[in-house]
Amino acid sequence: MIDSKPVIAANWKMYKTPQEGYQFARQLATKALNLKGVKFILAPSATAIFHLAEVLKDTPIEMAGQNMHFAEEGAFTGETSASMLQASGCTWVIIGHSERRHVFGESDDFIRQKVAAALQAGLNVIMCIGERLEDREAHRTQGVLQQQLRDGLEGLDEYPAERLVIAYEPVWAIGTGVVASPQQAGDAHGQVRAILNQRFPGLADADVKILYGGSVKSANAAELISTPGIDGFLIGGASLDVNEYCSIAEIAQNEVQVTN
Ligand code: PEP
Repeated sequence: MIDSKPVIAANWKMYKTPQEGYQFARQLATKALNLKGVKFILAPSATAIFHLAEVLKDTPIEMAGQNMHFAEEGAFTGETSASMLQASGCTWVIIGHSERRHVFGESDDFIRQKVAAALQAGLNVIMCIGERLEDREAHRTQGVLQQQLRDGLEGLDEYPAERLVIAYEPVWAIGTGVVASPQQAGDAHGQVRAILNQRFPGLADADVKILYGGSVKSANAAELISTPGIDGFLIGGASLDVNEYCSIAEIAQNEVQVTN
């Protein structure tokens, strides 16, 4: 569960050895002492998680798996289960990242099974959604978000909404250097919020955080985080450098303090 601080989540994708991750985590643990106004979540590669847990265990920095399988165990070569992530030190897992959807062909139904298994196992979930460029150009953004949210969360109403974070990540902005404008991101976050409110009636807005992801860096973080409806970031490329990652966190911390 998370509080009202902006979430600054790092998705390292397939970068950083355990040793490189360890060095980063040590530096972050020190820098984070001055960044108590944000919530850090690091998603290292699976091989680094256990190693990082040692550095992060006495800090408020949490870790996420980048993916998981819905089965508890079994003949699933190359996969990791929820309990394996938890036993290695994760309290979160990212599910439905656009690279899982579009490079590895994961369907909404497959993603729903993983979200269900993660929540059932006790992991908190960052579920990623977002439209491709052709969807946006054909004015299908809202329909895509609706379908990904509806299908991804089908039948999961029994779980506390606070254990779920949605990352809105337009596919055309991920790793491209093309960032959504505050207007585009704000509109999409408003649509996500409206769909969630419909799905979970009575839910307080703060219960499910909605992060923006897609080419976030220190140069664009201020205008994005001060856009109404953006509760934090999921950051890929810019999270690989500890100074840049902490600059983004500092900007978020300052902007949210200013606007509160
Ligand atoms: C991501 O991988 O979730 C992401 C947003 O990447 P980038 O920040 O590099 O666009």
